[in-house]
Amino acid sequence: MHSALYPLRFQPIFQRYVWGGHRLRTLLGKPTGPQPCAESWEICDRPNLQSLVAAGPLAGRSFHELIQQYGAQLLGPAADALLPLPTIAPQAKGRFPLLVKFLDAAQTISVQVHPTDTQAAQLALPDPGKTEAWIVLAAEPGSLIYAGLQPGVNRQRFLQALQKGACAELLHRFEPKPGDCVFLPAGTVHALGAGLLVAEIQQNSDTTFRLYDWDRLGPDGKPRPLHVEQALAVLDFDQGPVHPQTPQPLAGKEAVQLVHCPYFAILQWRFDRSQPMGGDGRFHILIFLQGQAAVEGDPSGLPVGPGSCLFLPACLAPVPIIPQDGPITFLDVFLG
Ligand SMILES: [Zn+2]
Repeated sequence: MHSALYPLRFQPIFQRYVWGGHRLRTLLGKPTGPQPCAESWEICDRPNLQSLVAAGPLAGRSFHELIQQYGAQLLGPAADALLPLPTIAPQAKGRFPLLVKFLDAAQTISVQVHPTDTQAAQLALPDPGKTEAWIVLAAEPGSLIYAGLQPGVNRQRFLQALQKGACAELLHRFEPKPGDCVFLPAGTVHALGAGLLVAEIQQNSDTTFRLYDWDRLGPDGKPRPLHVEQALAVLDFDQGPVHPQTPQPLAGKEAVQLVHCPYFAILQWRFDRSQPMGGDGRFHILIFLQGQAAVEGDPSGLPVGPGSCLFLPACLAPVPIIPQDGPITFLDVFLG
């Protein structure tokens, strides 16, 4: 079937929060300019913020316009089930279910927690819940991820520590290495430590409840707001230490599975000769981590490399990914 769709690249959207650094530019080649930058939003369909197509005949069109116009051609079965759970806040229906970003933490991000879909609906929030996953791209020596509670920490102990400004001491922490994938179900208390550059795949939600901001001041010289009451209401006190995911080999594929959850699946591919991707009737988001490759049908004519993201529409025939000068490593995100 002929379609006007092709492998899509989107323009990155930069967010300059107080904790950002320079590695989106220096390691991923993002045109952030010389100012520090915290996040690069790569695939985004939100009411006030839209990814715009970067190359080809659809350049300048918003992701949401494409969803409206092309529906199942773009999304496959996901088009009939945008944000499919029955508990989703009604305002969120019809939006793309995922948000894909890169984060550069020059300082440690606030200790935070996100609600589940059910909690978000009960709180009448405009967004669904937020389950997320991080894939570590770069780590300064000694950088820490805080994820889940240490064994034996209950609500009472946590509240006592929180009042003393010491809640972070009760979180499980570890030194991640590049390639680690950390899966954070909604309700898991977490923080991304200084020195980490990660890719983040998450539900399309911007709901963050901050518990503790490391006694830091915002750009206006005042502490950023905390949301302690809401955070404690959604924090899962049964969520103990979160360790990096164990990659699962996939028979017959040069890929491992990093995450398979109700909201998304993440595979990691690594190969050094041309292989077709997609073509299975589903959309695929490819997030490139290492090496360079040409992409057949990409009108930009540029190779993909670390920091590139491609959206493969569901209706496309398999798209050859052609490594140049050695192996290529990338994430493959889709609805499982
Ligand atoms: Zn988070």
